[in-house]
Amino acid sequence: MSATRFAPSPTGLLHVGNARTALINWLVARASGGSFLLRLDDTDRERSEERYADAIQQDMRWLGLDWDRLERQSGRQARYDDAIATLKAAGRLYACYETPEELSLKRAALRQAGRPPIYDRAALNLTDVDKATLEGEGRRPHWRFLLRAEAIEWDDRVHGAQHFEAENLSDPVLIREDGYALYTLTSVVDDIELGIDTVIRGDDHVSNTATQIQLFRALGAEPPAFAHHSLLAGADGEKLSKRIGSLSLRQLREAGYEPMTVNSVLARIGSADPIEPFTSLDQLVASFDLGRLGRNPARFGTELLDDLNPKVLHATDYAQVAARLGDLGVDGPALWDAVRGNLSKLDEARDWARICIGPVEPLREELAFLDEAADLLPEDLDWSAWTGALKQKTGRKGRALFRPLRLALTGRDHGPEMAALLPLIGRRRAEARLRGQTA
Ligand code: GLU
Repeated sequence: MSATRFAPSPTGLLHVGNARTALINWLVARASGGSFLLRLDDTDRERSEERYADAIQQDMRWLGLDWDRLERQSGRQARYDDAIATLKAAGRLYACYETPEELSLKRAALRQAGRPPIYDRAALNLTDVDKATLEGEGRRPHWRFLLRAEAIEWDDRVHGAQHFEAENLSDPVLIREDGYALYTLTSVVDDIELGIDTVIRGDDHVSNTATQIQLFRALGAEPPAFAHHSLLAGADGEKLSKRIGSLSLRQLREAGYEPMTVNSVLARIGSADPIEPFTSLDQLVASFDLGRLGRNPARFGTELLDDLNPKVLHATDYAQVAARLGDLGVDGPALWDAVRGNLSKLDEARDWARICIGPVEPLREELAFLDEAADLLPEDLDWSAWTGALKQKTGRKGRALFRPLRLALTGRDHGPEMAALLPLIGRRRAEARLRGQTA
């Protein structure tokens, strides 16, 4: 049983990359019969917005990713204060007074000297008098976590054995000048307190993990298991273009993609398994295996969605779309079976329903033939019996036989099987259209 979490910051809409992280966490939790937490990382009060917190939840629901518990970091400051007290008592937090400008000068100097831009711990040498003087000048401290000089190792579920030397990492800032705890700390406090045993996130967090592992231990907890999935890349392996990288789920929904198309693509890109059309999350849960995720960037482009959406629709049962389609004015299940193999987007099913019930402006070619066809139209609208009889009577076959009928009956030159559409059009409308009346 795995307890996982998805921890977006409500500072914008979920994009495809976030959705992939959410989905993988959800799948791992559900596949193991464990639990899935949605945690809103909203400690940054200037940038977090309620409308994004709402939108994230709506988008998750659209994908079908339900959560067992919702937590907001903004309501948990007391826990962070406790952790801060623990760390201070253990001598693992120290006050620093550098301004952002001073820090960036230090980094630039280190880079110029060909050294990695690691914080030099100058603040550790400040005396109480120094600190009092700085505070007298109006400076407020931010607080850094004192890393222990030791090897940090973990067995990453995607990347395998990981090894960092703490000397090569900067002591992370855990508390801002205004007293707010930062993500590096809050995430660990929450992962401990909320019982998260498997942290799955993008591999841009790998070095955070190294420092956070020391934090877990400093707070008296064993670190959870970690899995860092690769990030999305463009189809050519390049960094995802800004346009595609910031594609929001909102945009995908508005573009008419099925949520299961998005889920099916996001569960399989970057893995050893091919992308397949899944029509339910249950099927995906049964087939998902974190161990199949590769270490290389996962290639994403909207063409993957365009290719898969028709296949997902084709494989979808009427019951799964009935509520979204609503009353179409025709026999819903029959229409769905007639058209689902021809759809790129669900909305097109509505167009076909409209064509069935009309009015349709028939496109009439070969008028004499259409008159004969109307005369021979059988009571039961059996397409093959009808076209068989017409073939015999007129000697027409293939395109010459079928095209004028399709044009007159639907006003279109292509579409689903006429054998299935004709009964939905019905005898009265079919006859009128063959005879050139709008119906
Ligand atoms: N709020 C963090 C982010 O969006 C969460 C990272 C994590 O999963 O720990 O990057």
